Amino acid sequence: MKYIDEFRQRDVAQQLAGAIAHSVDPDRHYRLMEFCGGHTHAIFRYGVQDLMPANVEFIHGPGCPVCVLPTGRIDNAIQLVREHEVILCTYADLMRVPASERQSLIKAKAAGGDIRMVYSTQDALNIARDNPDRQVVFFAIGFETTTPPTAVAVKQAQAEGLKNFSVFCNHVLTPAAMQAILNAPEPVQIDGFLGPSHVSSVIGSRPYETFAEQYAKPIVIAGFEPLDVMQSALMLIRQLNAGRHQVENEYSRAVTRDGNSKAQALVAEVLELRPQFEWRGLGLIPDSALRIKPQYAEFDAERRFAMPAIKASDVKGCECPAILRGAKKPQDCKLLGTVCTPENPMGSCMVSSEGACAAYWSYGRVRNHSAGKSPNGLALSN
Ligand code: SF4
Repeated sequence: MKYIDEFRQRDVAQQLAGAIAHSVDPDRHYRLMEFCGGHTHAIFRYGVQDLMPANVEFIHGPGCPVCVLPTGRIDNAIQLVREHEVILCTYADLMRVPASERQSLIKAKAAGGDIRMVYSTQDALNIARDNPDRQVVFFAIGFETTTPPTAVAVKQAQAEGLKNFSVFCNHVLTPAAMQAILNAPEPVQIDGFLGPSHVSSVIGSRPYETFAEQYAKPIVIAGFEPLDVMQSALMLIRQLNAGRHQVENEYSRAVTRDGNSKAQALVAEVLELRPQFEWRGLGLIPDSALRIKPQYAEFDAERRFAMPAIKASDVKGCECPAILRGAKKPQDCKLLGTVCTPENPMGSCMVSSEGACAAYWSYGRVRNHSAGKSPNGLALSN
């Protein structure tokens, strides 16, 4: 398949592994944060970490929109269903994320809540059109990649005069999150970043330039295929060896410096910066999320319904917050593979298809503390 197969070739991977082994300085440790969950899954699915020299380490970042959504926002969504009796439209990944008091959207649905899984904003609009007597709320999550469809849906609803459609907006922004990781009171040592790929196809690589300069950290915009990840690691290693900290673009088949200006204009028309937003694991980050502009207020669920901010805590023992800021890895969580599995997730990182814990589970990196084997029968690897 074009643009897929050629980025998964074993012989090229071996050549890249050789180039990386040849390039690394044996006297230093390279800690490279892959921002996106898509990168994490590529690393484990294709065994990329095993092809790296021992002194090149991947640190998993917060680039999974389901994972970084704080519990309080899921509680808010459940409240919308229970107290306001809305039809809540959501992507499937969110259904099993634990909420407060052992609740989740799927449990709220089982208890009679009208929660519907959708594949797109257009599905949610269709539900609103088909149910003119019910309020329909689209639970919008995602990084910059998914903001244009939300903006389109709001504009469409306005153009059609849909009075029963609104958006619970939880879109978050990547450059602010990268900044927050490095500004943390006890920052994790990170030497360089594999930058977001799909996000950057919308916003371009330019927004990272000030960040790279200010923090003296190289960034390579990296595609999601294994050879993309390996090539990007090599580019980062070369920058670090040369003492450079620039933004480079490995994913040039999809990303330009300026991004998609039409999509950016559309988003800017409908959405604006929130002064601050809470991220799971990273806390309150200024200017790190978007909300609906006042001129589209009637389509903003947070204005249409009373939705007080809910301060909620994560499941005891779940290390998602530390994993999301790169301070821990899934194998540091005692619940991994014992109490917490995809069938019985205790935290968002195990639920989402982009979550780091889900990657460890899916590709056999799970440590079973009691048996020395992963529950799916694979040998230990850490
Ligand atoms: S394994 Fe489960 S409980 Fe542990 S950090 Fe991951 S999601 Fe949380």
